[in-house]
Amino acid sequence: MIPSLSILQSLKDLKSTDKMPTLFIGHGSPMNAIEDNQYRRSWQELGKTLPKPSAILSISAHWITHSTTKVTAMERPRTIYDFGGFPNELYQQEYSALGSPTFANETIRMVNNPTIQSDFDWGLDHGTWSVLLPMFPKADIPVYQLSIDYSKSPQFHYDLGLQLRSLRDKGVLILGSGNIVHNLGTMNFANKTYDWAEEFDIAIKTFIDNSNHQGVINFQQLGSISVMAHPSYDHFIPLLYILALQEKSEHVSYFNESFDLGSISMRSLVIS
Ligand code: ZN
Repeated sequence: MIPSLSILQSLKDLKSTDKMPTLFIGHGSPMNAIEDNQYRRSWQELGKTLPKPSAILSISAHWITHSTTKVTAMERPRTIYDFGGFPNELYQQEYSALGSPTFANETIRMVNNPTIQSDFDWGLDHGTWSVLLPMFPKADIPVYQLSIDYSKSPQFHYDLGLQLRSLRDKGVLILGSGNIVHNLGTMNFANKTYDWAEEFDIAIKTFIDNSNHQGVINFQQLGSISVMAHPSYDHFIPLLYILALQEKSEHVSYFNESFDLGSISMRSLVIS
């Protein structure tokens, strides 16, 4: 599902002085980077429509750290192939965007709690590059990543997201890359969506529509459907950062409101 014309039109109408929109992308399979499908086409369309960012900060489900929060600060981040069993073509892709030591240091300075460490080892994992390759194929925008400290609570991640708000005024596109429902163990090739998957997905959408961010932060209170939707919740956390960036006057628009393989919600959103 391509973002609707009204979403794209409202993005086109943005002035260069406006706050940069912020995105949560349901990334799903790494193959979406190269396979012609609705997801990849939606990312291509967004890339053509968004104002050109000064840099991109990606918060990807695939960079998990423990008891520390890191930000990539290298000049030239490598493309990381953090998956197995895919066709060779996928391993031949390279996303050659530069890093942004300047914005990385600025991010470290603007966050009071926790103390963020600069990182020179990571790079761009597939949560980042599989989306950016279709979205900004020229790779001419610097990209840096923030890690997810998995030892911390959902509230911690939301609170950290709040501290990143001013980056949007500096033209930084903040991208959360995960999935609102993500259970790899129950994927089925008949593409039959489970009731618990739909129920969780709609519960989260309803919280967002009611500006009830606390409901999203407390997603585990949804009980058994939250456990089914997220046996581990690495793919959910990026959403908390993106919601924290929403200003009161801003709207949420959805696209790719569908499921892949029965238990991967591809629901994506743009806040502007
Ligand atoms: Zn993933």
